Amino acid sequence: MSMESSSSQSLGAVARPDTVHARHPFFSVILPIYNEESGIAELYKRLTAVFESMGKSYEFVFVDDGSRDRSFALLAELYENDPHVRALQFSRNFGHHIAMTAGMDAVRGEVVVMMDSDLQDLPEEIPLMFAKLEEGYDVVFGIRMNKQHGLIKRINSAMFLWVMQRVVRGFEPNSGIFRMVRRRTIDAVKQCRETNRLIVGLLSWAGFKQVGIPVQHGKRFAGETKYTLSKQIRLAVTSILAFSDFPLRMVVYFGLIVSASSFLFATLVIARRVFFGYGEVGWPSLMTAILFLGGIQLLSLGVIGQYVGQVFTEAQGRPMYLLANDLDRADAEESEIRKSP
Ligand code: UDP
Ligand code: MG
Repeated sequence: MSMESSSSQSLGAVARPDTVHARHPFFSVILPIYNEESGIAELYKRLTAVFESMGKSYEFVFVDDGSRDRSFALLAELYENDPHVRALQFSRNFGHHIAMTAGMDAVRGEVVVMMDSDLQDLPEEIPLMFAKLEEGYDVVFGIRMNKQHGLIKRINSAMFLWVMQRVVRGFEPNSGIFRMVRRRTIDAVKQCRETNRLIVGLLSWAGFKQVGIPVQHGKRFAGETKYTLSKQIRLAVTSILAFSDFPLRMVVYFGLIVSASSFLFATLVIARRVFFGYGEVGWPSLMTAILFLGGIQLLSLGVIGQYVGQVFTEAQGRPMYLLANDLDRADAEESEIRKSP
């Protein structure tokens, strides 16, 4: 009993642990950046406040997804002034999910936070996520209580999510990318190297113990959404194709229904001829049938083409992203050590 009390006393006396550990931080945060120059300073400030209050070592891994504004210059400045910061820069814009992937490849922490960089995911929720994680989970994702997007975006994403829930097991429709993930799940998802990817789909695919907690969804701190309509559509199509052969099965069902109905139609024509003596069937019905079948054939070819296209890009086996810069203190230290005799 006296031992217990003395150990808890000594714990209390320990100075706050150093929160810098370039090689083995406890927390890593992945932050994809695409033209976010007006929000980076505020994001950095709020994140730092949160992590300093948690008292464990941490790193911020910013991934600049080919920004055309001053984002990377700002990140390089943060890197110069704060050893918690790492900054990767893509050679061009590869997309949000690829940027997240590069972050997953780069992080060294035991517990990884994935979040957007526009402050719609609130840094202040992170301690709550960690409390939940410590109850024994591998993944804690945020369930958005109040979505802060515009009407059109909400309609689009509602349609997308409706489909995704049906093709990806365990898909949580009200969650964005904001989540906290333990090392073993990160390592599992890192093994998936397909280029066409939906990162949250891969995370739910991985399994382990996952749980959601309610989070607030903030308003974008600065700038406009970086997800244009065409980016949204591309993401929807690739994620549906990547997780399901449902469109292919649908083509087969369509084919079956159409050929079954053509049998019915033929029966009808013969019956009319035999029982009522009608000679010809007018060309409008013919045209309708041809157009209908033509449409179905084009659609089916299109669906198959989409899959073939995906097989093609995956078969090319190109690297998923290219780095133009990698500001990493642990690497820098290592080359210093190698240089000195
Ligand atoms: N983003 C990115 N690459 C892109 C588009 C977006 O890295 O091609 C980043 C962006 O900087 C932000 C996050 O992905 O941190 C989410 O983007 P955004 O907030 O524009 O999407 P929304 O919240 O409107 O869905
Ligand atoms: Mg956003």
